[in-house]
Amino acid sequence: MKILFLILFCILINFQIQGCSKQSLSNNFSENINLKHNGEFNPMKIDSIKYNELTEEEKRVIINKGTEMPFTGELNNNKSEGTYICKRCNAPLYSSKDKFDSGCGWPSFDDEIEGAVKRIPDKDGMRIEILCNNCDGHLGHVFEGERFTEKNTRHCVNSISMKFIPTGETLPKVISNKMESSGSNYQKAIFASGCFWGTEYFLQKSKGVISTTVGYIGGWKENPTYEEVCTGKTGHAEAVEVIFDPSVTSFEELAKLYFETHDPTQVNRQGPDIGEQYRSEVFYLDDSQKEITEKLIKILESKGLKVATKLTKADKFWNAENYHQDYYQNNGKSPYCHVYKKKFD
Ligand SMILES: [Zn+2]
Repeated sequence: MKILFLILFCILINFQIQGCSKQSLSNNFSENINLKHNGEFNPMKIDSIKYNELTEEEKRVIINKGTEMPFTGELNNNKSEGTYICKRCNAPLYSSKDKFDSGCGWPSFDDEIEGAVKRIPDKDGMRIEILCNNCDGHLGHVFEGERFTEKNTRHCVNSISMKFIPTGETLPKVISNKMESSGSNYQKAIFASGCFWGTEYFLQKSKGVISTTVGYIGGWKENPTYEEVCTGKTGHAEAVEVIFDPSVTSFEELAKLYFETHDPTQVNRQGPDIGEQYRSEVFYLDDSQKEITEKLIKILESKGLKVATKLTKADKFWNAENYHQDYYQNNGKSPYCHVYKKKFD
């Protein structure tokens, strides 16, 4: 009988280790430690990027993912040659040569300018939402298999999300959120603390944070997929790369927030997520980040915490699949395994 129990126990543990809890989120768990039930943390994000000013109606569609009335947009019947750019950030999105008349009441394109459009599952669980890849402004939805054109694809775009620049006119400068192209003094930090959805959720709301990207780091396989990392056999940790403005915040502030939004004493797990990929680890980019992290760990240890957080020099950070980016923001949910708890004075 004892052996039977032992076998059952092993199967259970094995199942837990192999399974990614993200795929079967427990509602109870999420409710118990829902951020909304914790009044301590309510940071206001300072939007350091100066995007184009939007009208209330533009904000309703582009930021709050609304939809304009069909047949009302001024670009719906536009047949001139030129480029359709993002109303918010000026990024070129579509070319007039890919526009076609679908009769649906919104501008329709069967192709995008390469790399300009991000696809994510819509909250309705049915459709695929499209966003500007540069500023995440809401564009509309994309449909496949309708056989309107040879490409068999229809980007159904709110006219109000775009601006049309006729051929011959100069395209306005793109307002970029990428550190590399902005020429600014933004800095980078990389944190791992279990499920990267939760890590990102808190960091991206923190003031002075310009952008966040979830991904994989610290393993040996090039360009790993989520499924590969999920096996726990690639060596990677789920992590978040943070771009921040050091004139507004600092690595130390972000590292404190990092320690205060997960349990750094857990080894190779975070809450219900178990496996090496869910370890607590700071991937430092320079000696100063290393020293600051060591200092913070000492402070936590002096308060009696047995900190398991690893400290490793950052190597290549691999971006995770698009559907993992801004997960909680896009899906209107709250983290199930990260919660803010003050740990520093
Ligand atoms: Zn944009």
